[in-house]
Amino acid sequence: MISAVLKPGREESLRRRHPWIFSGAIEGLDGEPAGGETVAVRTSGGELAALGAFSPRSQIAVRIWSFDPSEKIEAGFLRRRLERAIKARRPEQESWGEACGRLVFSEADGLPGLVIDRYADFVVCQFLAAGAEAWRETIVTLLSEITHAAGIYERSDVEVRAKEGLEPRAGVLAGAEPPELVEVAEGELRFLVDLRRGQKTGFYLDQRDNRAIAAPYIGAGEVLDCFSNTGSFAAAALKAGAERVTCVDSSAGALELARRNVELNAIDPTRAVLEEGNVFGVLRRMRGEERRFDAVVLDPPRFADSRARLEAAMRGYKDINLQALKVLRSGGILVTFSCSHHMSSELLRMTLAYAAADAGREVQILRCLHQAADHPVALNFPESEYLKGFLCRVW
Ligand code: SAH
Repeated sequence: MISAVLKPGREESLRRRHPWIFSGAIEGLDGEPAGGETVAVRTSGGELAALGAFSPRSQIAVRIWSFDPSEKIEAGFLRRRLERAIKARRPEQESWGEACGRLVFSEADGLPGLVIDRYADFVVCQFLAAGAEAWRETIVTLLSEITHAAGIYERSDVEVRAKEGLEPRAGVLAGAEPPELVEVAEGELRFLVDLRRGQKTGFYLDQRDNRAIAAPYIGAGEVLDCFSNTGSFAAAALKAGAERVTCVDSSAGALELARRNVELNAIDPTRAVLEEGNVFGVLRRMRGEERRFDAVVLDPPRFADSRARLEAAMRGYKDINLQALKVLRSGGILVTFSCSHHMSSELLRMTLAYAAADAGREVQILRCLHQAADHPVALNFPESEYLKGFLCRVW
């Protein structure tokens, strides 16, 4: 096995069991490993410390599979990791039925670059790094055995693959072709998911817990669901008793599915207003029109994908929160999120405090929100914490 030897003084993150080795931390390699090949990671003193997948094109040169150097990285190892993650989500004897959820969350489940979601009978995979890619066939075979899914579909059509020198890919990996839309259940709600064209692997599974937590607070009066995607918060609010929800999203396709999701949940379609547009502009216009809401949900896309973009992102977060506060009735509810890892919960809270001061509104945090429990945060991998939010009362 080829060894990657670290530079002196660059072993600290390895000691903390952080699973990434940056190319700049490597003193040298005693060979030329192929993309995804398993390499031995050695301290500057030559001590064998971990085994990881090499990625020749990425700044993240090695993603650690195991900190136990006696481990063998092969099908048996992958099976143990996959089974551990999947069984932790749901005991084996329980059938998935129409449920949906995340089965494997990449580094946070000890499987770097591998995301696996379940939508009823179908499993959707993303291979996001050279190591996961190198093991794709083994992983697909193991998943067929472990999940008994009707079909396994790939959605590796994402930009991050370019950083690994990998082409975007999508399509059937095993079993049946998924239907145009897969119907899933989330508590009392039902949703149609487009596994081929939907954002992420088809649905924002990471907001599942938050939809349930927020429902009783946003289930009354006039609600505004900003960045609604396929209307999952809107459906939760309408089902909980909101009179009317306005969904705003820039994606016409997502809004069309939102319309169908409202229908699917047996909600009177006149209670859902769908508006295609840019939330930044729509909020300003609504403010000009003196529109008022009893609850506003703000679930924007990731504004900061690097620390360098954080300042600009904070201005964006402040702007939408300020505009949202201005259209809320006194005693109304604001549910506000950030899914940027670099935007910490503290920073989001501070940004909200500035927005509240500028808007002249009093804001109380009722609940701190977090990515769903099947998207765990690994302590050795802080990057796995990304979605945070606050459910607030606004006076
Ligand atoms: N709340 C949704 C997920 C939102 S993801 C859910 O729980 O399913 C962010 C959404 O914002 C995406 O649907 C994307 O199409 C939309 N979007 C991105 N930028 C936007 C903008 N400037 N104005 C309106 N929508 C935008």
